[in-house]
Amino acid sequence: MHDVQVDPKQATARAGGGTTWSAFNDATHSYGLATTGGVVSTTGVGGLTLGGGIGYLARGFGLSCDNLLSAEVVTAAGQVLTASEQENDDLFWALRGGGGNFGVVTAFEFGLHPVKDVYGGPLFFDRADAGAVLRAYREYIRDAPAEFGGFPAWQIAPPLPFIPEARHGETMLAFVACWAGPVEDGERALKPIRDAAPVVAEHVGVMPYPALNSAFDGLYPPGGLQHYWKANFVRELTDEAIDAHLEHGPKVPVVNSTVHIYPINGACHRVARDKTAFAYRDATFATVIAGMWPDAADNDSNIKWVRDYYDAVAPLSEEGGYVNFMSGDDQDRIKANYKGNYDRLTDVKRKYDPDNLFHLNQNIRP
Ligand SMILES: Cc1cc2nc3c(=O)[nH]c(=O)nc-3n(C[C@H](O)[C@H](O)[C@H](O)COP(=O)(O)OP(=O)(O)OC[C@H]3O[C@@H](n4cnc5c(N)ncnc54)[C@H](O)[C@@H]3O)c2cc1C
Repeated sequence: MHDVQVDPKQATARAGGGTTWSAFNDATHSYGLATTGGVVSTTGVGGLTLGGGIGYLARGFGLSCDNLLSAEVVTAAGQVLTASEQENDDLFWALRGGGGNFGVVTAFEFGLHPVKDVYGGPLFFDRADAGAVLRAYREYIRDAPAEFGGFPAWQIAPPLPFIPEARHGETMLAFVACWAGPVEDGERALKPIRDAAPVVAEHVGVMPYPALNSAFDGLYPPGGLQHYWKANFVRELTDEAIDAHLEHGPKVPVVNSTVHIYPINGACHRVARDKTAFAYRDATFATVIAGMWPDAADNDSNIKWVRDYYDAVAPLSEEGGYVNFMSGDDQDRIKANYKGNYDRLTDVKRKYDPDNLFHLNQNIRP
């Protein structure tokens, strides 16, 4: 179920429940349109949107779930329902952040925005300059124009042609930028980050939005990696928090693993906390410590890196985190992840899935 139908006049798209962002972006890009997706195009529209949906365009257009207009849902009882502001609005509320708890979504209808080419790509900084870059990011992102998205990332430099060969395999702080406003303004928009420290290597320029959205796909082959992730929402990236990142980030064990500090202010803050199930509308950042490595024989050391990192930053973060960045052992955090919205989610779960058929997720128990 991966067909995508675009209505360019209405600026909407209807995507089958199994669509990836790659297929979605390709379809909408033909019309110079896009909506918020993630930062890797092999990810599914389904899981990403139902958990919230954080990506390059979120500061400008909100989370993926904020752009959802309706969903066709097969419930646990086998009914086919439409969920929208007009129909089954309790279900529609829960689908926007509550994950795969409420049924199988067979079609998603999104609102689209005029985004065709963007100015962006990765900049790599020496890890000795990581503190300066993180502080510059913290300051700039407070009031940066909404068209500016992007995030700092701990990254072992892959063997890419634009990175000096002598630096391949070195751990650096990358900044992946995306300016979705007029491309001629992109350089100016990125200046506060670029000026934070000398740039070691970069691959920044004007490119189609789907090109940026798929630029890192090669690092994360679907099904090819072990995963262990942890996450927190963050309101203030304090000096103490930056120190914790500087201690643990440079220890990133393999090229596939990374830590991203996504900005979720701007348009994400303009949605009221109780408007959707996604509750952290006052968080400035969503941090993910994403452990991904090829060989199960290396599980212990990679999981240890994630846990040590998390132990250091969690006390400096909000109690909850983004459900889509969590692992199987995070189930006890489910209430914190939804703050004041949890009880209402339980009510909707009782109504649409009283026997908890859909439980292979960050589970909301009926
Ligand atoms: C490499 C990588 C990069 C990522 N980048 C981002 C990012 O930039 N931003 C972000 O927000 N998240 C990101 N994520 C996290 C991502 O949102 C979650 O992994 C999400 O679960 C992926 O959804 P999926 O449909 O691809 O996964 P699947 O494994 O297919 O589904 C995961 C779960 O989602 C639910 N689900 C999926 N489709 C449906 C459906 N049609 N109806 C009902 N329930 C459904 C089910 O509970 C299912 O078990 C990334 C994950 C990976 C692995």
